[in-house]
Amino acid sequence: MDLTALTADEVRELLRNKKASAEEVCREHLNRIRQKNPEVRAYLTLSEERALKQARKVDRLVAEGKPLPILAGVPVAVKDAIVTRGVRTTCASKILENYIPPYDSTAVARLEAAGAVILGKTNCDEFAMGSSTENSAYFPTRNPRNPDRVPGGSSGGSAAAVAANLATVALGSDTGGSIRQPAAFCGIAGMMGTYGRVSRYGLVAFASSLDHIGPFGRSVRDVARALKVIAGCDPADSTTADIPVPDYEATLEEDVRGVTVGVPQEYFNGLSPEIGDNIQKGIDRLAKLGCKIACISLPHTEYAIACYYIICTAEASSNLARYDGVRYGLRAAGHDGLREMYKKTRDAGFGAEVKRRIMLGTYVLSSGYYEAYYRKAQQVRSLIARDFLEAFDEVDVIVTPTSPIPPFKLGEKVDDPLQMYLADIYTVTASLAGIPGISVPCGLTRTEPHLPVGMQMLARHFDEARLLQVARAFEKSGGFELM
Ligand code: GLN
Repeated sequence: MDLTALTADEVRELLRNKKASAEEVCREHLNRIRQKNPEVRAYLTLSEERALKQARKVDRLVAEGKPLPILAGVPVAVKDAIVTRGVRTTCASKILENYIPPYDSTAVARLEAAGAVILGKTNCDEFAMGSSTENSAYFPTRNPRNPDRVPGGSSGGSAAAVAANLATVALGSDTGGSIRQPAAFCGIAGMMGTYGRVSRYGLVAFASSLDHIGPFGRSVRDVARALKVIAGCDPADSTTADIPVPDYEATLEEDVRGVTVGVPQEYFNGLSPEIGDNIQKGIDRLAKLGCKIACISLPHTEYAIACYYIICTAEASSNLARYDGVRYGLRAAGHDGLREMYKKTRDAGFGAEVKRRIMLGTYVLSSGYYEAYYRKAQQVRSLIARDFLEAFDEVDVIVTPTSPIPPFKLGEKVDDPLQMYLADIYTVTASLAGIPGISVPCGLTRTEPHLPVGMQMLARHFDEARLLQVARAFEKSGGFELM
């Protein structure tokens, strides 16, 4: 049996029936990582010792006949933007090259408490800024479905790890699409909960009003299970909501007949026809399941990219001020005075995209431009959020393409940041509105080389259970057509 191809549920069942040990499952994954990672380059750092220690702990529970926690023995990969105690956390930046956090993020602590085995840290765009994982200061990750293509980003390493069976489940972060878009590009499921559903404690801050932690999986059930574990109020993150977390798996298999699904017309302009065809087929599948399909409008969609890139850069310019060579990571040598040291450290430690965002963000916040850009963007953000609120008066779920284009070639867009930004058009809107979203596989492009297409599903604030239920029905209706 291939222990690396299982779902979280299957791993736990195997352990329970003593058909395999958690240590075996862990070692199988580490072996596969040794074989495949040199090509895929999903991982930046492995936490082998920590993983084996945790696996043995789970095996002791089995030996003692104790009840097994929900993620017992499940191998997990964690985006390197999420801190792990004693395990290097670089955020794919040179400025944090040797940073070893003294604490665990809440999401990681909750996963381990539920029996998960943390295998290591995955590659991403530097400080989660990007859509292809090519902005990593270390190396690009390749799409396991086609090595010439990007895995998406910024959580490309986590998506690639799950797609290549180098982990069962992974954590990513999503500020403007960084879980949903790489999930789409790699042909797996990836979810961002409502803003405030999952604690951000220990997530290296990029744009605090938009940042989320969320799970990737090869099945909707795995995503539901991982989300349940990491969700919920956390005193260490004041933006988490004190709203009980439902048992997502309990309602997962419920019928979706009568659920109203909105299709926003604005999300089908300028779309690659290959994507459009697949999404249309996906919508037909939902109709066959008994969902009521309705045409809707989200009129402020066209302003979303400008709005998102003003707000996220403004917040980033403030959040990244802490990397000054004094408190964290890198400090440049050979300086003459404090200012010189700051300058040299930041010049050597940040990559081109991060510098571009800090400059953009500083500009839109500066006096004289604040009203024209930052304040205006906040007003537009409210309008975009209102579009969704009004749409959800009529429909339960909204479906859209996750990305307007299929996974592109490595190197294809690195020299054109604007093209890269524009490709985020369908994911940034939900981020601005704070609503939950999931991307699920929706077939492959018709022409060679047959690349994965993702369908995005969105729901009302805190209606993750509904979202997962529709995603699960969709998965059952056609399978996830993986290669
Ligand atoms: N691609 C978007 C950006 O570059 C989103 C990134 C993210 O969600 N972390 O900002």
